[in-house]
Amino acid sequence: RQTGPASYLEGLNPEQIRAVETIDGPVLVLAGAGTGKTRVLTTRIAHILATGKAYPSQILAVTFTNKAAREMKERIGVLVGGAVEGMPWLGTFHSIGVRLLRRHAELVGLRSDFTILDTDDQIRLIKQLIQAEGLDDKRWPGRQFAMMIDGWKNKGFGPAEIPEGDARSFANGKGRELFEAYQNRLKTLNACDFGDLLCHPIRIFRNHPDILKEYHDKFRYILVDEYQDTNTAQYMWLRLIAQGSHNVCCVGDDDQSIYGWRGAEVDNILRFEKDFPGAVVIRLERNYRSTAHILGAASHLISHNEGRLGKTLFTDQADDDHEKVMVHAAWDSEEEARAVGEEIEQLQRRDHRLNDMAILVRASFQMREFEDRFVTLGLNYRVIGGPRFYERLEIRDAMAYFRVVCQPADDLAFERIVNTPKRGLGEAAVRQLHDYARARGLPLLKAASDLVMTEEMKPRPRKALTDVVENFQRWSSLLENTPHTELAEQILEDSGYTAMWQNDKSADAPGRLDNLKELIRSMEDFESMRGFLEHVSLVMDAEQNEDLDAVSIMTLHSAKGLEFETIFLPGWEEGLFPHQRALDEGGRSGLEEERRLAYVGLTRAKVNCHIWFVSNRRIHGLWQSTIPSRFLDELPSEHADVAEPDTSYGGYGATAVGGGYGASRFDEAEPFSGSYNTPGWRRAQANRNDATRQNWGTRSGHAVERIGYGETDSGYGA
Ligand code: ATP
Ligand code: MG
Repeated sequence: RQTGPASYLEGLNPEQIRAVETIDGPVLVLAGAGTGKTRVLTTRIAHILATGKAYPSQILAVTFTNKAAREMKERIGVLVGGAVEGMPWLGTFHSIGVRLLRRHAELVGLRSDFTILDTDDQIRLIKQLIQAEGLDDKRWPGRQFAMMIDGWKNKGFGPAEIPEGDARSFANGKGRELFEAYQNRLKTLNACDFGDLLCHPIRIFRNHPDILKEYHDKFRYILVDEYQDTNTAQYMWLRLIAQGSHNVCCVGDDDQSIYGWRGAEVDNILRFEKDFPGAVVIRLERNYRSTAHILGAASHLISHNEGRLGKTLFTDQADDDHEKVMVHAAWDSEEEARAVGEEIEQLQRRDHRLNDMAILVRASFQMREFEDRFVTLGLNYRVIGGPRFYERLEIRDAMAYFRVVCQPADDLAFERIVNTPKRGLGEAAVRQLHDYARARGLPLLKAASDLVMTEEMKPRPRKALTDVVENFQRWSSLLENTPHTELAEQILEDSGYTAMWQNDKSADAPGRLDNLKELIRSMEDFESMRGFLEHVSLVMDAEQNEDLDAVSIMTLHSAKGLEFETIFLPGWEEGLFPHQRALDEGGRSGLEEERRLAYVGLTRAKVNCHIWFVSNRRIHGLWQSTIPSRFLDELPSEHADVAEPDTSYGGYGATAVGGGYGASRFDEAEPFSGSYNTPGWRRAQANRNDATRQNWGTRSGHAVERIGYGETDSGYGA
């Protein structure tokens, strides 16, 4: 039907074509960022379809995000001219897991209309079980156990398989029992959690060879993107299902493995050749995405990691046409956000689209400053892979308190926090309050203050509600005469809200505490609490429209696989990036994962890449002088340009100390000579270094443990 090479192969290089056309037998494409791995996968599907090797329904393709799956579907449609009957099984491990499980739910004791619990439901359920065991749920927090269960399920463990030590470590040795009780409870509820979406199918495949055979016969071709970030359970699942045809193609890059903290096993790459004998390994070396400077900078940076599989990367783009990676200094994060905003506006004036720009942050609390700035400037933005700052759970809770203080009749806000943190106001008590308020036409808070004066309530809830009422009365009385940030802090303390997260052992709690601190910080820019609340309602009103031309803001973790013309990377300071938690872990592995994250960040850029570091950042509510990230030292000067430090602030500056970066502010005698990279400056920093580290290292235990470490898209971050 066709003469010459098929049209979808046009423009591919020989290695890529080989990766597309080698469709029988196991294939591993191991290649650096931007070499066309994802493009190869997409084209491979088109090739399989166009050559009639399989029907769409006989292809199984796994992507890392749902968004990537949607894009891949569209691309395939274009490549094969839209004339495909049906569609491949294309989605994330989780979404494919749901599909499988709906078909065979009864085999694991569920009905096909089972529900999928979100994290909150999951934790509530676990809490009930802990209480039912007669255990103190403060000592054994549900969240912590939910995390343990996730960890086990990432490894494919059921209650019978968890290591003895793990089982003993929780709830006076009742870990295994609790896990079992949890699974039984899920069954009764006809529900499963995210981990089950993988573990149930694995169990079904293992216990029902006939069903596994069905899928072996069905799926002729299996493809997996971002293979370096699969966890053990995913790998088990994949190996089971791929035993049939053996036509499995995985593409990945060990240098981009950034989910180790969530159980991803980069070793799965090494195991591939062992588990799939005769695997063809294909390496792609030409990068099509980035300029030579960006690629040079990224390659040099990642070369500081040990234990890499090692890859070559080159580009045909000439050096001199493009700008180097630009490293900028700013005084503080506000200045940083302002400067990034200016740069974006300049680009816009030169006809660049906002859609082509992205800001990638290490921790989600960094987003707040940018969001506020963009609202002020009227720049459209969208937050990818998570809620916007003011939409986060802990921020909404805190704001609800502030709203009731400023506006006591705000019933929605009152309802939100009347029993958050838990203070013994059960459903019955809240209902009683509602009825009482409705009968008298009163707002809830007013009704509460009347109700607690009567004998109508049971003593316990009555006491609890009295405390709430008295708290709000006191806070309201402070509203006019106390500095509003101080009051805000006090509200979160007195109400027990801060303590609630401090006592929370889950991975996202420290990130939430950071967000709360950031919230208070952001209030400083306003005259009053009311003024601040008004501002937030405006921010929340800003449009989040998919079709709008808008700057993207996201964490580095959620930027995987994406590309933009211009990338902004703020916050390259020690303790933030690399993250303190990774540094505290000691050893190389935490730091190396941070460096891979930096590599992922840099390699998202096609043309321009701007890195920022600030000399002062407020972390955990305290101003701290910072040290530029060690990763900056790892950028070669032939590919990275370090701009003159920011001297726009009076009092620290050019006149006093030559180059003028900060020395006078930090009582350092050593003048700074214009590059942060000089030995003299380094030495000067080293003195501050200890102080800074101590600050970050010792403050209030858990808060320091991890500044939103591990915050990302999928449920783990705040
Ligand atoms: P990452 O590791 O970041 O996921 P990747 O290896 O998956 O990157 P792709 O996203 O597939 O790389 O490709 C990077 C860019 O290069 C895309 O814009 C893609 O369209 C383009 N590209 C890939 N191969 C070619 C080619 N042969 N000719 C022109 N452009 C190409
Ligand atoms: Mg890719």
